[in-house]
Amino acid sequence: MKKVAIVGSGIAGVTIAHTLIESGHAVEMFEIGDDYPFPHRSQFEEQVLFDDDRHQDRLDGARGLVQTGDYRPSLDRQDRAMRVGGSATIWWGFAPRFLPSTFRPKTLHGYGDDWPIGYEDLEPYYARAEARLGVSGTAADNPFAAPRAGPYPLPPFELGYTDRILAEKLKARGLVFHTTPQARTRLAYDGRPACDNYGTCWCCPTGAIYSPAHHLARALATGRLTLHTRAAVTRILTEGDRVRALVYHPGRGKAEVEHAADVIIVAIGGIESTRLLLLSRGPGHPDGIGNAGGRAGRNLTFHAVRRASLHFRDPLFPGRFTPPGMRSDQFVDPPGARKSGGMSVEFNDQTAERHRPDFAGRTWKSGAEVVEAMRHRLRCREMTFHCESDATDEKYIALSTERDPFGDPFARVHYVQSDFDFETYEVARALLARNAEAVGADAAELDDRGAYWSAGHHMGACRMGRGPDDSVVDSFGEVHGVKNLFLAGAATFVTATPFQPTLTITALALRAADYVRDQRLS
Ligand SMILES: Cc1cc2nc3c(=O)[nH]c(=O)nc-3n(C[C@H](O)[C@H](O)[C@H](O)COP(=O)(O)OP(=O)(O)OC[C@H]3O[C@@H](n4cnc5c(N)ncnc54)[C@H](O)[C@@H]3O)c2cc1C
Repeated sequence: MKKVAIVGSGIAGVTIAHTLIESGHAVEMFEIGDDYPFPHRSQFEEQVLFDDDRHQDRLDGARGLVQTGDYRPSLDRQDRAMRVGGSATIWWGFAPRFLPSTFRPKTLHGYGDDWPIGYEDLEPYYARAEARLGVSGTAADNPFAAPRAGPYPLPPFELGYTDRILAEKLKARGLVFHTTPQARTRLAYDGRPACDNYGTCWCCPTGAIYSPAHHLARALATGRLTLHTRAAVTRILTEGDRVRALVYHPGRGKAEVEHAADVIIVAIGGIESTRLLLLSRGPGHPDGIGNAGGRAGRNLTFHAVRRASLHFRDPLFPGRFTPPGMRSDQFVDPPGARKSGGMSVEFNDQTAERHRPDFAGRTWKSGAEVVEAMRHRLRCREMTFHCESDATDEKYIALSTERDPFGDPFARVHYVQSDFDFETYEVARALLARNAEAVGADAAELDDRGAYWSAGHHMGACRMGRGPDDSVVDSFGEVHGVKNLFLAGAATFVTATPFQPTLTITALALRAADYVRDQRLS
């Protein structure tokens, strides 16, 4: 039997591993982080009930990176989780599909590049991805939704009472809001319980929010998956035009291990996947694997999530439902030539973070005093503008001069907002004013234009395309010029659409798994 190695136990790696294992193959998986118990009950108790972040994870300091440019949040701390399950152990589960137009931005809008695949190639895989993640949703209330061959596997989370009132007011002003597709169980599904609405999707104690640990446990139960934790993969080795082995480090003070494999799939997130290719220099690829055309690390895009808060005279009692409330896809694909990006608009069932009372160094006399300090939050609602960005020469991943404990350079992520991003910010500002007026808010504030968050979406640095001159991988994720070496995850995206990426990551991973099974393992 051919040997398959998968690097990374996030949603992309687990999707491919589980699919191959279902068809009878055996897989060895390498994960830099520690095990992370599932369902995340103990983490919920520590992080939510006791505000204790002890589940932070690292392999003897091997984790880290260098950040330059104008991106303020920590890419290492706020943007990713390095542990079994990866970042989908802390995600919120928004699971929209891309639109057909998403794949043709150059043809339709004269910017970026077209993808080498279209929506029709992915539609069946979107359906499989939704079934796998247990997505609750409906397209019936969303006139902007992508066409679909069948219904969602689970009914939607309906709009809450206040959302319905706000949605009516918005609709009267031509602003269409609808339910949000979520990888959160509206009903019990596939061994997962129905959501109990704890309100902390980023740390779900029951497993209602999808975690890769769900399918990882099933794959492990077959006995055909071997999971190596605390194993930092540091190199990919080739022989001629094909992959031969990976090298991993089992920890400080221990010797590196070479592990031979016929097929290797690298699924370690947008930043580390790029770093691993750049570190893997060798005969025939002096600048790193897949980098013959100098494309590895280029074409990087983040989403720019802009946060706003609305203030109302009367209380709206937010926070009674989990964060994904209603959203609007009306502005994701503005027609015509583009000087600014599209955006999805979310009306979260939360108050904005900035309205939290400052607890630091304060002594409270009673619980009633805390409640009083928080009372004004009942009249606030948060909106987020989930904005598309463009790729420029000021957005890239390279190797830094700082090194990890094994002596390897960390990734350096350089990111500076572009004119396109600032134009998009202005569109968001105008849209906020329209929304605020429509719902009768007394005031509305948008974060300053320098304050943006990627939402952990690091896309495009090893994009798919036609060949080494424009890209790093083909549409199945196979690295140009290196047979049997695949990349999975948002690194392979061509452009940053305003949609959250993980359903598409999963759909692409399922497509790659079928290809590997049929073309490389048969
Ligand atoms: C707070 C937050 C909220 C989010 N909410 C949403 C949402 O609502 N909807 C959505 O679509 N997306 C969301 N995302 C993004 C989503 O979590 C990611 O797109 C997704 O988890 C990426 O999966 P992945 O498997 O590609 O990579 P990852 O989850 O990054 O997994 C990669 C794995 O590889 C491991 N690894 C790294 N380097 C090495 C190495 N050298 N050797 C071995 N192992 C290594 C890591 O430890 C990790 O476990 C959110 C992200 C964050 C941070």
